[in-house]
Amino acid sequence: MTVQRLSPEILSAMEGAVGQNGIAVEPAGMAKYLGDWAGDYRGSALAVLRPASVGEVQAVMRLCGELGLGVIPQGGNTGLVSGAIDSKGRGLVVVSLERLNTIRQIDTDNFTLQADAGCVLQTIKDVCEAQDCLFPLALGAQGSCQIGGNAATNAGGVNVLRYGMARDLVLGLEVVLADGELWNGFSGLRKNNTGYDLKQLFIGSEGTLGIITGVEVKLFPKPARTETAYLGLASFEAAIALFNQARRDCSDLISAFEIIGSECIELARLIDPATREPVSAPVQVLIELSSSAAIDLSGLLAGFLGDAMENSLVTDAVLAASSVQARSFWAIREGLVEGQAKRGYHVRTDLSVKISDIPALIERARRFVAKEHPGWIPLAYGHAGDGNVHFNVLPPLELAMQEARARGVEVVAGLYEIAVGLGGSISAEHGIGRSRRKEFWAGLSPTHRRMVAALKSALDPKGLMNPGCLLPATETFP
Ligand SMILES: Cc1cc2nc3c(=O)[nH]c(=O)nc-3n(C[C@H](O)[C@H](O)[C@H](O)COP(=O)(O)OP(=O)(O)OC[C@H]3O[C@@H](n4cnc5c(N)ncnc54)[C@H](O)[C@@H]3O)c2cc1C
Repeated sequence: MTVQRLSPEILSAMEGAVGQNGIAVEPAGMAKYLGDWAGDYRGSALAVLRPASVGEVQAVMRLCGELGLGVIPQGGNTGLVSGAIDSKGRGLVVVSLERLNTIRQIDTDNFTLQADAGCVLQTIKDVCEAQDCLFPLALGAQGSCQIGGNAATNAGGVNVLRYGMARDLVLGLEVVLADGELWNGFSGLRKNNTGYDLKQLFIGSEGTLGIITGVEVKLFPKPARTETAYLGLASFEAAIALFNQARRDCSDLISAFEIIGSECIELARLIDPATREPVSAPVQVLIELSSSAAIDLSGLLAGFLGDAMENSLVTDAVLAASSVQARSFWAIREGLVEGQAKRGYHVRTDLSVKISDIPALIERARRFVAKEHPGWIPLAYGHAGDGNVHFNVLPPLELAMQEARARGVEVVAGLYEIAVGLGGSISAEHGIGRSRRKEFWAGLSPTHRRMVAALKSALDPKGLMNPGCLLPATETFP
C-alpha cells in the first residue's frame, strides 16, 4: 500500500538519522529535488533526506527498510530519463547525496582519486587539473552532476571515444546496500581478476541496487596541448569517412569528434543570439586532438585537414587560433542542447548505432518525421565517434502542449523502431530511468529479463531501491 504521509514518529526517526538540517518535508524545501532539468516532469516525495556521512546513509536505509519505504537516490538531478524523480505519487523518499561531498584522496603516482559520491564532477576535474592530472569524463551538465550519479548512470559525454564511459573510468565503488550494509569495493588496482567484478553491477544500475557513497576513478596526465577545429561537410556520409581517416591519421590523439546538423545552430542562438556558424555547411564537425607530450598537434591537424579538403571530404575548416576561440566552438555544441530546453517541450532521444550506420539512421529518421509529423523540426547531433546520435524533434510552437506531448510519444516510438531496425540501442548514454522503462523491458528476451530480475531480487529483495526506475516494480516481475 502506498504511504501518503509520514507520521510524527517516523519524521522524528528520520530526523534522528540525518539531523535537523538533513530533512525537508515542506513543498518549498523539497521543490528543488522534485523537478527535472528539462522541466518535463514534476515529482513528488514523502520527504527529502540529505545524509552528511556514509553512516547516515546506512541509518536511512535501515530505517526505510524497516518501514518498507521506497527510496530514490539522487545526485545532481541532471539525468534526462526521469530516474531521480517519481511523478507517479508512489510515496517514496528522495535521498540526496549532495552533503556527502569530500574528495577523500588523490594519488598522483597511482593516477587515482577517491571521492564521496556527492562530489560535483566539475569539482573533481578542477582538483585533478590542479595536480597536473586529467579526469576525462566531460559532459554539458558537469557543473551540477555528481560523480555518484555519473557512476550510477554510466555517463558518457564528449571524451568517450578516447577514454571510455564511466564504466571504463571507475576503479572501485563504495555502496550502501538496500538493507543498510556497507560494501567497500575500493582497491586502487587496475588489475584485479578475482571473480565477479561487483562494481560493474552498480555502474549503470540507476539507483536500483544500492546507494553509491564513494567512487574511485582513474586519472590521466593532463593534456599539455589541445587543438580544436570546426569543419564544414556536405553530408553525414562524409563525416563518417572523415572520422575513419582521422582515426588513422591522427595517431589516436582524437579526444572528441562531434557532429552537428546545421539546423541545430538556431537553438544555440536561443542561448547566445551572437552565435555565428564558424562554417556554412549542412553538416558540421567539432574535432579535438589532445596530448600530454610535446607533439606538434597543430601541424598534425593542419596536415590531416589539408588532405581531407583535397579529397573533398571537408568543404570548409576553421582551426581555433586560441583557447578562447576553441571555447566558442564548444559553446555552440553546449548551447544547442540548452536551447532546446529553453524553447520548451521537445522529443529527446539518445540513439546508438554502428558508426557506419549513422547516415542511414539520420536519413531514415528525417524521412519519418517529414512524412508522419510534418511541421515538426528534426535535429541531429551527437558523439559520432561513438555511434551516438541525439535525434531530437521540436514540435511546432503553435501546437498545444497536451497534443504535442501525445504526438511526441508517437514520434519517439517511430524513432526507436528505426534505431532498433538498424540493430541499434534506444539508450546510448542517458540510461533507462522511468521514461524508457517500458520500451527497454519490452525489448528484452525472457532469459535477459530473468537474469535482471534475479539480480534485483538478490540485492533488493523488498524492491525498495528506486521503484519504477529501469525495471517494473518487483510485484510485476515475470
Ligand atoms: C545539459 C546536459 C547535458 C548532458 N550531457 C550528457 C552527456 O553528454 N552524456 C551523458 O551520459 N549524460 C549527459 N547528461 C545526463 C546527465 O548529466 C548524466 O546522466 C549524469 O551522469 C547524471 O548525474 P546526476 O548526478 O545528475 O544524477 P541524477 O540525475 O541525480 O540521477 C540519475 C540516476 O542515477 C541515480 N543515482 C544518482 N546518484 C546516485 C548514487 N549516489 N547512488 C545510486 N544511484 C544514484 C538516480 O537514482 C537516477 O536513477 C546531460 C544532462 C544535461 C542536463
